[in-house]
Amino acid sequence: MMAQYLEIKGRHPEALLFYRMGDFYEMFFEDAEAAAEALDIALTKRGQHLGRDIPMCGVPVATAESYLLSLIRKGFRVAVAEQLEDPAEARKRGSKSVVKRDVVRLVTPGTLTEEALLEARRANFLAAWAGRGGEGALAWVDISTGAFGVKPCGINGLGAELARLAPREILVCDEMERELAGLAREAGAQVTALPRAAFDGGARRICAWFGVATLDGWGAFGRAEVGAMAALVDYLDLTQKGARPHLSPPLREAEGEVVEIDAATRASLELTRALGGGRPGSLLGCIDRTVTAGGARALEARLAAPSRRLPVIGARLDAVEALVERPALARDLRETLRGAPDLDRALSRLALDRGGPRDLGALRDALGAAERVAALLGAEILPGLLAEAVERLSGPDGLARLLDEALVASPPTLARDGGFVAAGFAADLDQARRLRDEGRAVIAQMQADYADRTGVGSLKIRHNGTLGYVVEVTAAQAEKLRRPPFDAEFHHRQTTGSAVRFATQALSETEARLLNAGGEALAIEKRIFGELRRAVLAEAGHLARVAGALAEMDVAAALADLALAEGWTRPVLDEGRAFRVTGGRHPVVEAALRREGRAFVANDCDLSERPVRLLTGPNMGGKSTYLRQAALLAVLAQAGSFVPAERLEMGLVSRLFSRVGASDDLARGRSTFMVEMVETAAILHRADDRSLVLLDEIGRGTATWDGLSIAWAVLEHLEGVNRCRAIFATHYHELATLAAQLPGAANAHVAVADWEGEVVFLHEVRAGAADRSYGVQVAKLAGLPPKVVARARAVLRGLEARAREGGPRTLEEELPLFARGVEPEPAPPEPSPVEERLRAVQVDDLSPREALELVYELKRIA
Ligand code: ADP
Repeated sequence: MMAQYLEIKGRHPEALLFYRMGDFYEMFFEDAEAAAEALDIALTKRGQHLGRDIPMCGVPVATAESYLLSLIRKGFRVAVAEQLEDPAEARKRGSKSVVKRDVVRLVTPGTLTEEALLEARRANFLAAWAGRGGEGALAWVDISTGAFGVKPCGINGLGAELARLAPREILVCDEMERELAGLAREAGAQVTALPRAAFDGGARRICAWFGVATLDGWGAFGRAEVGAMAALVDYLDLTQKGARPHLSPPLREAEGEVVEIDAATRASLELTRALGGGRPGSLLGCIDRTVTAGGARALEARLAAPSRRLPVIGARLDAVEALVERPALARDLRETLRGAPDLDRALSRLALDRGGPRDLGALRDALGAAERVAALLGAEILPGLLAEAVERLSGPDGLARLLDEALVASPPTLARDGGFVAAGFAADLDQARRLRDEGRAVIAQMQADYADRTGVGSLKIRHNGTLGYVVEVTAAQAEKLRRPPFDAEFHHRQTTGSAVRFATQALSETEARLLNAGGEALAIEKRIFGELRRAVLAEAGHLARVAGALAEMDVAAALADLALAEGWTRPVLDEGRAFRVTGGRHPVVEAALRREGRAFVANDCDLSERPVRLLTGPNMGGKSTYLRQAALLAVLAQAGSFVPAERLEMGLVSRLFSRVGASDDLARGRSTFMVEMVETAAILHRADDRSLVLLDEIGRGTATWDGLSIAWAVLEHLEGVNRCRAIFATHYHELATLAAQLPGAANAHVAVADWEGEVVFLHEVRAGAADRSYGVQVAKLAGLPPKVVARARAVLRGLEARAREGGPRTLEEELPLFARGVEPEPAPPEPSPVEERLRAVQVDDLSPREALELVYELKRIA
C-alpha cells in the first residue's frame, strides 16, 4: 500500500494527497505534518518506512468538505485519491493485493464547486493571464456557473482587472510568477505557475472543448486571448481529471466596453466590498435586493464593471423602468423568483459528476419557477431586455415534466441511499420496492405463525447486525425449541444473557429475497439517476440560458424595488460631458444615518460648464462623502440602475479615479505620501476628457508649502490638460483664488454655521470658497484637552496677525499661473517662543512643581 501511496504522491508533489482508506482520507509523511498543523487535528503514526515511523493523520470522508475548505483557504492544494474498485475485487486477486486508487480530482481555490465551499452570492473565478510579444490578455472562468470571459489586458492593466474580478486563483507562466505575485496577492488570488507551453495552446484546444470547428463565431480573438483561454481549458482538464464542467462560450469583452476603474479607486469607493473585505458596508451590500443567488452574482458583476455603451445601459434602464411603472407586477415577479434554486451551480455539479438527486430537484424547481415567471409576464408588453429574457425562460421540451414525474418532493443530497425516484415513475422500481416492503410484512406474518405453532407467545423475529434475521426467545422457552419436533426447524445460533437466538430455513430465504429486492431497487434508482443526469446535460446550454434569464429578471426587479422604496430616479445619459446632479445622496451614508435616526442632506453638483470643482470646508464637513457620492452616482447609472438623486444628467464616464481617504500601504514599504503621489501620477497620465476624477486633499502628506505647491500644479493640470470632470477637495484655502481664475474651474464649499463659538456642520454644498477652516473648533469637538485648544487658538491668532502685517498674503499674488522657481519668502521674525509660551500660562493654575517644570521648559526654548 505504501508503494502505491508513494507512486501517486510522486505524481502530485505540489498538493496534499488525500488518500482514501475506507471511511477516511489519510495523509502521510510531510503531508500529514502540514495538515495536522493547519487543521489542528491529531498526528499519529502508522508502521515504518526506511526504519522511521510514518507520521499520519486523517479526516472522515463524511465531513471532509469543511477540512478541504480550511486547507484551501490556507493556500494548500489537495489531490483527492479515491478507491477505484470494491475491496472485494482486490481480495479476489490475492490476499496481498491492494485496492486500486488514483487521483480523481485536484482541488484548488479556483476550481471549487461544492455548495459548502462557495459563497452562493459571489462568483468564484479562475483567471489566466497570457502575455505575447507586447500583447496581453486575461481570461476567466467560473466552473461553478459556467461563466467564461476574456479581454485584452496588458500587464499594466492587470491590477485593475484582478481587483474587479477578485479571482481566487490565477494561472501565469512560470517566467512571470515573481513579477505577478504581488499583484495577485493584493487581489487575494493564489498564483499557480505553469510552464510557458501551457499558454501556447492554439485555438484547436478550445474548439475541441466546445466541439466547434472555429472560434470565429464568437469573435475575433487575439493570440494572447487564445493563449489565456487555452491555459484555462488545459488546467480544467488537469484538475478535473477529464470530467468536463459545463462552460458557456467565451464572451469577449472589447477594450472600452466597461468603465475603467483601477484597484485603488475600487477599494476606496467600496463598490462590492467594504474596506474590511466583506459585502456589508459596500455599495453592493447596500443596494442588493435580489432574491436568487444567480441574480446576486449578476448584480455584483454589473456593479463591478459598469458599462460604457449607451444602448446596453439604456436597455437595462428600460427594464427597471418598466417594472417601476408596474409595482404590482414587480412584487409578484419577486415573489415568484424568491427561493428559486441556484440552477447554474446545480448544473455545474451534475456536469462534473459531483451532483446528486438534490441538484436534479433544484433544476426541476428552477424550471418550475421559470415557467411561472413566463406565465406571469407572458401577457405584458415589455421592453427589449425583459421580452428577450421571457423568451429564454422556456426550458428544454419535456425536461421539466420528466424531472417532475421522476423525483420525489425533496430529494436527498446523495444518490447512494436511493429514495429519490417518485412512485409510479418506473414499473420495475415499483415492483422491487413492493417486494422489499412486502418482505417486511412477510416477516411479521412468519413471527405470528411461529408463535402460534410453538405456543411461545413472546417469540420475536429480530434483525441482528451479524446474524441477520433470527428468532429470539427467552432462555426458559428456548428448551422447547431445542426439542422435537421443533429442533428440526429451529437451529440454535447464539445464546446471550437474556435471549436465545435461532435461525430457520424459511427465514433465511425470505431475508435473501428481501435483500435482493432492496438492492435491486437501489440499482434501478442509480440507473434512473444516470439517465436523468444525461438528459439534463444534453440540454446544458439551454438550461444555462434559462438561468441567465432568471438572473436578469431578478436584477431588474430588485433594482425596481429599490428605486420604488427609496425614491430613486432614472438617470438621463448621453455621450456628452455633462454632469448635473440635483438633490443627490450617498446611498450607503444615507442608510447608516437612517439607522441612527438622522437625515441625509441632499446636494447638487454641476460640472457641466466648469468641469473642475474645488471643494473647501472643515474636516467632518462632508467633503469625502460628496466626492464619493458623485462617483457612486456614475457607477449606479452606468450599471443600469436608477440613482439616488432627484435628477442626474450625465455624459458617459470612460474612466473613474478616486483618491479619497488615506490608504496606507506600509506593507509595500511605501509611505502614505508616496502612495498618494503614485496614484496621482497615474491619474494625471490616464484621465481623458470623459473621465471622472475625485481627489481628496492631495499633498497633505508632506510639508505645507510642498503640499500646497503640488496641489496647485495638479489642479492646473486637471483643468488645462486632462480636461476631465473632477472634484478636488482641499484644506488649502489658498487654492480657492486659483480656482476662481481658471476658466474650467469653480469653487464650492461645505457650509457650517457658527453657533455660540461652536461649529455646526450643515453638510450643504454651496458655491464659492469657504471663508475659514474651523480646524481648531473641529479639534475641540474631537475632545482635545481644553488647554491645547486654547493654545491652538492663540497660535492661530498670532499667525493670522503676522500674515496681516505683511507676510506673503496670498500665494497667487506671488505665483502667476505656471510660474516657475519662485521660492516663498523667508518667514518674518516671529514673536519669541518664550513670550508666546508665557502668554498662555495660567499662573494661578500652576502647582509649584509645574512652575518649576515651566522654568526648565522656558530655558529650553529660549
Ligand atoms: P470630510 O471629508 O469633510 O472630513 P466626511 O465626508 O467624512 O467629511 O463626513 C463626515 C460625516 O458627516 C459623515 O460620516 C456623515 O455622517 C456626515 N455627513 C457627510 N455628508 C453628509 C450629508 N450630506 N448629510 C448628512 N450627513 C452627512
